[in-house]
Amino acid sequence: MKTENFRLEEVEFMPAKLEPGILYASQKYRTAAHLCACGCGEKVRTQLGPLGWRLTNGRTGPTLFPSIGNWQKPCRSHYFISNGRVLWRSDWTDEEVLEGRRAEEQQRDAYFHNHQGGWREQLRSWLKRRR
Ligand SMILES: [Zn+2]
Repeated sequence: MKTENFRLEEVEFMPAKLEPGILYASQKYRTAAHLCACGCGEKVRTQLGPLGWRLTNGRTGPTLFPSIGNWQKPCRSHYFISNGRVLWRSDWTDEEVLEGRRAEEQQRDAYFHNHQGGWREQLRSWLKRRR
């Protein structure tokens, strides 16, 4: 059965058994988990924070951004959770899967590059000064 709505439940640790229709979120471990909205029973974990998803909770329910793309799962479902409602996207094409992965990698590279770049620059200028 498809899930139409999610409500937010704040937890410290993820429960071993997830209930459908509940988006569990742990601020402490910056992670959220829910059962795939298509009803396949797969657990979907989403990392929260600058490299992952943004989670907000409104009057009618939680919003997770960007969309949930379960292309690594057999069902390959793709949907948004917006104000507690599940908004379905059409199935992924193989191209979209590749695009999505590429975009994710680029985002990650850019993030680490910025951070490590700064560190390397500092080391380099420090070494220069020593010479
Ligand atoms: Zn599914």
